[in-house]
Amino acid sequence: MKREGQIKVDSENLFPIIKKWLYSDKDIFLREIVANACDAVKKYKSLCSIGETEDDNVKPRIDIKLDKDAKTLMVSDNGIGMTEEEVEKYITQIAFSGAQEFLEKYKDQTDSDSGIIGHFGLGFYSAYMVSDTVEIETLSYVKDAKPVHWVSDGSHTYEISDGSRTERGTTIIMHLSEDGKEFLDEYKIKAILKKYCHFLPYEIYFSSANEAKKEDEEEKPINNTEALWLKAPKDCTTEEYEDFYRETFTDMNLPLFWIHLNVDYPFRLKGILYFPKQTDKLQVMPGEIKLFANRVYIADNIKEVVPEFLMLLKGVIDCPDLPLNVSRSFLQNDGEVAKISKHITKKVADKLISVFKNERKDYESYWDDISPFIKFGCIKDEKFYDKIKDIILYKSINGDFKTFAELPKQGDKVYYVSSTDLQAQYIKMFKDNDLDAIILEHNIDTHFVSFLEYKENETKFVRIDSEIGEALKSDSAENEESNNEIIDIFKNALGIEKLTVKAEALKTTDTPAIITINEYERRMNDISRIYGNMFGEASKASETLIVNTDNEVVKKLSSIDEDKRTLLCKHIYDLAVISQRKLTAEELDGFVARSVQVMGLV
Ligand code: ADP
Repeated sequence: MKREGQIKVDSENLFPIIKKWLYSDKDIFLREIVANACDAVKKYKSLCSIGETEDDNVKPRIDIKLDKDAKTLMVSDNGIGMTEEEVEKYITQIAFSGAQEFLEKYKDQTDSDSGIIGHFGLGFYSAYMVSDTVEIETLSYVKDAKPVHWVSDGSHTYEISDGSRTERGTTIIMHLSEDGKEFLDEYKIKAILKKYCHFLPYEIYFSSANEAKKEDEEEKPINNTEALWLKAPKDCTTEEYEDFYRETFTDMNLPLFWIHLNVDYPFRLKGILYFPKQTDKLQVMPGEIKLFANRVYIADNIKEVVPEFLMLLKGVIDCPDLPLNVSRSFLQNDGEVAKISKHITKKVADKLISVFKNERKDYESYWDDISPFIKFGCIKDEKFYDKIKDIILYKSINGDFKTFAELPKQGDKVYYVSSTDLQAQYIKMFKDNDLDAIILEHNIDTHFVSFLEYKENETKFVRIDSEIGEALKSDSAENEESNNEIIDIFKNALGIEKLTVKAEALKTTDTPAIITINEYERRMNDISRIYGNMFGEASKASETLIVNTDNEVVKKLSSIDEDKRTLLCKHIYDLAVISQRKLTAEELDGFVARSVQVMGLV
């Protein structure tokens, strides 16, 4: 016997609105339906465990069947099932009013593409995003319950009649609409299941009615019912952590180390964060943090929950209590969410400190991989810097690692190298004179150096080619008159208006001259380059040529004829430039031609 009913609606156009609203993220309908199936199994299991009903020990499972000819997608579970009253109550009253309430709240919001909308569990009614008609076949676990059939075409009426299920559980049959026909593709369905339902606790099987099942083929669930992050950290092996990493993030490299988060109070949170190996020496590679609510995948990289700099890591975070069903602005202003984010940051800092203290050698070997992440974290979150500043390492040109307190200093200055190739000549000069400098070669270091100077304002960072420190100057007596003569000789020979020329006696007598570049101007250029010349083409940082008055060739310059002198001055300048940067094509031509002339001098 058929019973007809009317779905109570205030808004005439509820279904069209559901379709329109969720248009940008239709895939989630399947997550919602499968999550409901999973809940139904869980409810049955918990009723058994409290002795409410006797367990029939049927293995829990969820089946997803696609039928391209019939244009249906079915999700079937062997969970708790529903009686007729429950269908009335849960499906046509509660679920419906939930959907309605959501729409009431958000219908005026304009950024329907913001993504968060997809994180809202619209539950059962999200099936109408892709279906014309949805049927439910269900049989409650309750003794002597009768199977029920419910159907509605998405208008305001539904029909309830006797159902055909013979075993406990529920089947949702979605008759896919024109809008939903893309879901007739089994690869698409499998991909969605992998993304959203991969870690659900009960076995999920997929089958397609249009494909003959191969004999002997063993039926395999498409999901991994073990969610490693839910296991107690002490029970997880290194191999499990590594397998989980490889499987979840399809990264060929093994992670460097990981943090297993396991919090019960004041909020529930579990997860695993991995420090990935960096594949690019200069750029920071984006990471991937997958957010789950009770094993159901919600989204990647939700920055309201996970601090932005942690997005460089790879990992999973499961927050069962997170209010994900609310708008993004709520998440941003929610105290609980901020606490989660702070807690994760603290755990990461603690882990780093413990690796530094207990596994210093490993820590040093990871340093190149983890330093961009740490530096980015410091810049983004000063508290993070304050907590971990003593374990930030600085690699020196002599190959050892220093902490901030151990930095090699000349007065209040720390010299650094931004390219061991381009600044090789300067490094050699430092090494020859037993001086040390640190290497800051990564792109992030441009920002990090400024950040350090702001935090540690008693220390100045100067690039190794930006000035000649006192330690490199020799003690030989200065002769102002002859110095001025040298300066004039070079100025006249080179004829470069903007070039400042200085004469100094350097300890390294081999080098006739070197170039220094104004630190401040060069930094401005670096920054403007990073931001793609946003502020217009930056003017070139000013260069100074420092002529070494203790060099043998330089000493002879004043006594040789003018033509030779000009040639040698230019050649000395070329050599100084080469030690500092790459020559342009034009400069290189000039240099080669002059080199030939210099050889002609013998
Ligand atoms: P929610 O899951 O957020 O409660 P839904 O709209 O998804 O909202 O579902 C409404 C209710 O319908 C559920 O709370 C549950 O009681 C019932 N329900 C939905 N799917 C199933 C199912 N597969 N088995 C048993 N009950 C179900």
